[in-house]
Amino acid sequence: MTPQLRTTCCMPACRSTRKADEPDEEWLCRRHFMLASRAARVEYDAAWREADKADWRRADGLDISAAPFVRVTAAWEQVKVEAFAAAGIAS
Ligand SMILES: [Zn+2]
Repeated sequence: MTPQLRTTCCMPACRSTRKADEPDEEWLCRRHFMLASRAARVEYDAAWREADKADWRRADGLDISAAPFVRVTAAWEQVKVEAFAAAGIAS
C-alpha cells in the first residue's frame, strides 16, 4: 500500500492538510482561500473547471491546447498573492 500523499496549506504557520493527488500540489485551506477577493476566487473556480475539462479532452487526444492550464495557473497565483497580502505576508 502506497503512503497517502498529503499537502499542507500554502500559508506559513497554517497546519491544515488535505489529501493530495500530486506530491508538489499547492493548496490553500478554506479559511485562507477565503482571504482572496471574490473576483479572484470566482476566476479561479471557473479556470479550474475549464482546465479539468481540458484534461479529459487531452486524455482523449482531442485538444492539446495549453491555454486552460496557463489560465488556471495565473488564477491560482492571483489567489495566492491576494490571500498572502490579506494575511500581511509578502509572497
Ligand atoms: Zn491555511
